[in-house]
This record gives sequence, structure tokens and C-alpha cells, in this order.
Amino acid sequence: RTLGALLAEVCQRHAGREALVVSFQQVRWTYAELGRRVQDLCAGLLRLGLQTGDRVGIWSPNCAEWLLAQLATARLGLVLVNINPAYRRDELIYALDKVGCAALITAVQFKTSAYAQMLHDLIPELVGHDARRPLHCAALPALRHIVALPLLPGGHAGGVDAAQAQALTRGMVAFESLCQPASAAEVQAIAACEARLDRHQPINIQFTSGTTGRPKGATLTHRNILNNGYFVGEAMRLTPEDRLCVPVPLYHCFGMVLGNLAALTHGAALVYPAPGFEPLATLQAVQDERCTGLHGVPTMFIALLDHPRFADFATPQLRTGIMAGSPCPIEVMRQVIARMNLRDITIAYGMTETSPVSFQSQTDDPLERRVSTVGRIHPHCEVKITGPEGETLPRGATGELCTRGYSVMQGYWDDDPQTRQAIDEDGWMHTGDLAQIDAAGYGQIVGRIKDMVIRGGENLYPREIEEFLYRHPAIQDVQVVGVPDARMGEELCACIILKPGQALDAAGVRAFCQGQIAHHKIPRHVRFMSEFPLTVTGKIQKFRLREALQAELK
Ligand code: ATP
Ligand code: MG
Repeated sequence: RTLGALLAEVCQRHAGREALVVSFQQVRWTYAELGRRVQDLCAGLLRLGLQTGDRVGIWSPNCAEWLLAQLATARLGLVLVNINPAYRRDELIYALDKVGCAALITAVQFKTSAYAQMLHDLIPELVGHDARRPLHCAALPALRHIVALPLLPGGHAGGVDAAQAQALTRGMVAFESLCQPASAAEVQAIAACEARLDRHQPINIQFTSGTTGRPKGATLTHRNILNNGYFVGEAMRLTPEDRLCVPVPLYHCFGMVLGNLAALTHGAALVYPAPGFEPLATLQAVQDERCTGLHGVPTMFIALLDHPRFADFATPQLRTGIMAGSPCPIEVMRQVIARMNLRDITIAYGMTETSPVSFQSQTDDPLERRVSTVGRIHPHCEVKITGPEGETLPRGATGELCTRGYSVMQGYWDDDPQTRQAIDEDGWMHTGDLAQIDAAGYGQIVGRIKDMVIRGGENLYPREIEEFLYRHPAIQDVQVVGVPDARMGEELCACIILKPGQALDAAGVRAFCQGQIAHHKIPRHVRFMSEFPLTVTGKIQKFRLREALQAELK
């Protein structure tokens, strides 16, 4: 099935139920309203002359229009290209150019950054352009339309003056103008578009997080992500009674699949608390909207638990959600279960290239397994662990995790060499992650192959040492990386963020480890920091930490 077919069914079955709440935009839509708005937007997109297979970029923080764009492009067989709202000029050109976007949905005015200045620099042709005609942009020849999202509350045009902002806006198609009620002829044209689609039609190009380098554009189909969203929701046991709070970015598969699609396939309601992650707004939304589910990467949950006003919010109805995206410290899992009442929270493991989830714990897994593993392989997916020569290793051994099944992407957009590197002839996706699977089938992610530290010929897994250091009461967050060393090849460096008001020094850290972990695993170097380099999804970029430390330790 396609997303459009599913949407039609869900909107009819749950017509009167709430589908989306975005309080910062005063949005509260039922499924019937959502379905109607998506249809209107489909008509608007057709009026722009967009055709099946055309790429449509969206470069925006979370907002209600994001969901409309996701669903309307899917219905028409357009390929939505999720663009990280934190991208700046060069990254934006790279992404738009790489996939040849025919349209870009964005805004001149967001509170979060200087979008206007960047649009102005990137597409100077916008000034003086008549938005009723297709655009000709020298830097991006495929780009024909720029669609302006409505102003978010508190939004302003960063970097340009009011007159320039107005001139830019005049060159853009107003999103609202694409949302006029669809005529009967347009409804027919939409249906004709939908009739031509099948489940192997690309639905998104999603860029990877860029944790290990330049983001890669994964081409995913309706079949890929629709099924994955459904099985993710099943693992959480979502029902139409559930209300899922999504503070994670929609541009990333965490928001758009684990959030939007998991909820929609189960008739649950979605709640977006803020355009970007704001701990206070998230706590407020969970309380006020009586959310039963909450998603986040570990750093977000840490920020909520540590928020000075955490105790002011009552969230007794909270039950489930997903912690994922990077290693989920056991201690953080224990705390969210105990202090946030997230007794049915699940951990998921996945990657953009596999739609994304391949492992997930189930709400009825034993607690101990649920906090310490990533659960078991998802339905209809295969898994194997391979050694350095590509040989399949026995249960319990540590090696590269490979997955296969419906969820593996079509490929990296327009990049056959990289695709062939990632997916072998037998269809196995080589994840680049080290893992082991126990006798009962529960998976443990040991770390990324790229992050493994080889000290004096011995393989060390930073994750293990991080888990140990998390137990120190003064440590809020810790990352362990390898740094070059003349004698040992590499040495470990622990980068530590302390809890507010706490004191600790390097000797104290080492004393804590002494006798508790093997001597060679005790970090030789310790650095205290106030923050880590993060991707917009909140993932820690260890390669940047390593670069900074290398320069410092030279
Ligand atoms: P890039 O591929 O651009 O370097 P990325 O791999 O971080 O970035 P994503 O596709 O967003 O981009 O993230 C997938 C990766 O995140 C996985 O390969 C894995 O390393 C990590 N990851 C995801 N979930 C978990 C988890 N539950 N535990 C440990 N690691 C996880
Ligand atoms: Mg990756």
C-alpha cells in the first residue's frame, strides 16, 4: 500500500479524533480536518506543475505544515527531501543540488535562525521575482518554486531588513495560497496521480545525521517507511487512545517515521511541543495534552530529568515512547522509568538507511533486558553478525551488524558506489555498527566500528567505559574517544560534562575507575567540558571531539 491509501482509511475511521496538536501555532486538527487539509495542499502542489517523482525539499523546524507537506507529497508521488533546519548555505546547496529539488518549502522568518539572509545569498533571483512564474536560479537549475511557510510565533527575518524580507517573500509562493479548497476536478486529478503509484515509489530522501562525516541521502520507498512506522507503533502498543509527544526533529526519521507514521498508522494523536527541542515546552505539552508517549534521544531525556522545574510537572498518564538514536545509558533508562513513569518505554536501534528501525524492545520485555539491550529484531527483518573477513559469526560474538529485509533503502540517491559499499549483492545492509546478539535474540550495540579504539593492539569499546562512568554521581554526560598516542597507537580520553554545582578532577575520575574496570580501560586523558559538538538530532559528533582533542593534545 501507499501512504495515501493508508491516510484515506485512517482519516475515515478516526474522523472525529484528534490527529495533531501544535499549541505554539494554535493548531488542533481532527483526522477529518487533517485529511481535508492534505487534499487541499495536494491540489495546490499540482497547480505548481509538480509531477510524480519530482523532489520537494522541506527546510524547516517542526510545525504543523511539516506534517501536511509530508502527507501531501506522499499522496502525489512526489519525493520529499528532508533538509536539516540547521544546514547553512553550503550544506543546503549540497543537499538541494545533489537531489535536484524542483521546489523548496521554507520560510523567510523563523525565530531559530537567519533563514532570510541565507535565502537571499543563495537565490538572489528571488528579489523582484514574480512568484506566479517558475524561478530560474543560477546556482540550482532544477529549482522552480520556493514556498513560504507561515510565520511562526516570535519569528523574525534574521540578517536582512524588513524591506528585503518583504522583497524575498514576494518572490515566494505563500504556503496558504496552496491550501485553497480543492475543486472537484482537482480531487479527480489527485486520485489519478495516486492510482499510478505503487509501494516501491520513492517517498523520501532522508539525509543521515552526519555523525561520522558528510550526511548521505538515503532513498526510501512507501513500502520501506510505512511498514516500519507500523511495526514501531506495534512495539509500543499504540492505540487511538494514545497521544504521542514528538520533540525530536521531523526532518529526521525519528520524527517523521517513529513519530508521525507510528501514530498515524494507529490512529493516535501527535503533539509537537516546539519548533526545536525545548525542555520546558516539552514538559508543559506532556502535562497539558495528557500525552501517553514521549520520544527522545538520550540527551533530551537527560535534559528533561535535569531541568530545574522538572518536579513542577505532573505526567501520570505517560506510559510509553522511544529512546533511540545513540547509545541509551542504562542509568538514564532507569531514571525515565522511575521518575517520568515511562514504564513501557522502549529502546530502538536503527539507521536512516533502514527506514530506520531494525531492533526494538517490546513493552512486555523483562525490564532488565529492556534497559540493557536494544531488544530483538523487528518482524520481517533478518540479521547477522559478521567478522573482519565478512564471515558469519556465532551467537554472542561481537562483529559488524548486517540487516536485510523490506526496510533496507533503495540506495543512496544518485550514488551507486556508496550504495554498493553499504548494500552487498545479497541485499545485506552493512551498518558500520558493532553488535552482539544473545541466545534469546536480544541485541546489544557495542559501538560504531569507526569509534572503536585500538590501544596497544587491543580493541576497546568506548561505550563500555561510558556506561561505567555514568554511574559517578557528579557526571552528567560522558563521551570516551580515542586520541593518537606515540607509544600505544591510541589512548582513551574521557570527555566529561559535570552536573551543575559538582566538582571532580582527572585524578578523581581515575580513582573512581581503579579496581572497578580493567587497568587498560581507565582513560589516560580526562577533559571537562560544558558541551559536546552535536548534530541537530542531538547526537554527539565524536569525530569533532576527536579532532579538537587531537589538536589540543599535539
Ligand atoms: P552518518 O551516517 O551520517 O555518520 P548517523 O549514522 O548518526 O550519521 P543516523 O542514520 O541518524 O545517522 O543514525 C544511525 C546510527 O545511530 C546507527 O548506525 C548507530 O550507530 C546509532 N544508533 C541508533 N540507535 C542506537 C541505539 N539504540 N544504540 C546505539 N547506537 C544507536
Ligand atoms: Mg550512519
